[in-house]
Amino acid sequence: MIISMRPHATKEEIDHVCERIREFGYKVHSIQGEERVVIGAVGIGDVASCLESLEAAPGVESAVRISAPYKFVSREFKKERTVIPVNGVDVGGNNFALMAGPCSVESEEQIMETARAVAASGAKIFRGGAFKPRTSPYDFQGLELEGLKLLAKVRKETGLAIVTEVMSEQDVELVAEHANIMQVGARNMQNFALLKALGKCSRPVLLKRGMSSTIMELLMSAEYITAHGNPNVMLCERGIRTFETATRNTCDIAAVPLLHELTHLPVILDPSHATGKRSLVPAVARAAVAVGADGLLLEVHPFPEKAFSDGAQSLTLEQFRSLTHDLKPYLDLWKAARLPAALTVGIPH
Ligand code: PEP
Ligand code: MN
Repeated sequence: MIISMRPHATKEEIDHVCERIREFGYKVHSIQGEERVVIGAVGIGDVASCLESLEAAPGVESAVRISAPYKFVSREFKKERTVIPVNGVDVGGNNFALMAGPCSVESEEQIMETARAVAASGAKIFRGGAFKPRTSPYDFQGLELEGLKLLAKVRKETGLAIVTEVMSEQDVELVAEHANIMQVGARNMQNFALLKALGKCSRPVLLKRGMSSTIMELLMSAEYITAHGNPNVMLCERGIRTFETATRNTCDIAAVPLLHELTHLPVILDPSHATGKRSLVPAVARAAVAVGADGLLLEVHPFPEKAFSDGAQSLTLEQFRSLTHDLKPYLDLWKAARLPAALTVGIPH
């Protein structure tokens, strides 16, 4: 169950509701939002009587039953799609979020050149890893703090928002000082200590699906972040491991509409990691728009053959420009499909 308190509910009213929930045998998870307190009641008990009792309690606006094991991220909890403002641009809603940049931050020259090019092609969010999760300990591990500082410089000079990976809960504060969006990589999707720490962080989170994770597990990981206080989570499908080896991963394109059925969170598709092959990226990017993804995360490098990581799946600056150009008619249809939905939830257009 989720109990939403009225905007100005008093501390006594909130405490009373928590007490009643415990009396019914449930555990309490409360979230202090900007406007109101939302309380999650989790466990096994007499749902019907608990709901009836709570609906009548002073200060309660609504009490609803959520049957899915994930609560705050479920569509049952919130019908309207979540829109996450990032540095003046919306992720979710009626804006298609284009995020692009190299796999790794390598040098100032490399990221500045890439940033200027992707901004000129319409990207509003710049990606680049300063902390890199590499399969081999002998591979490039990222420029770490120096990389974060370079990313902050990109934002200052180009106005682009920054998304970058945070690999450990110890680095959350440091990364949050430099980035606008905290990326959780596929290998860390179930790093629960990291997810809890991000729940306490004021920055939005881009949560990538683990390469062997189910949709349910992805949503439960998102629930960790929201249950610990941060409602601003975007999900990212980046391909999963299957028996197929012709592509680096198998792009689960149906994950996008499925996630839209199950959750109100924005869904981003990463065609670069999903295919591992630059020639396939534009077609999969078009597919993402067609199935209604809220945005794309794309790897771009001025000289992919010289990239420190993921060169084979990185687009050149020119290929990125042509991808965004070719995407335009698809984005027009995307916008037309979004508008009626926006009208029904009352978003000004
Ligand atoms: C990345 O975005 O460069 C990355 C490491 O992605 P993933 O975690 O999806 O492998
Ligand atoms: Mn990469």
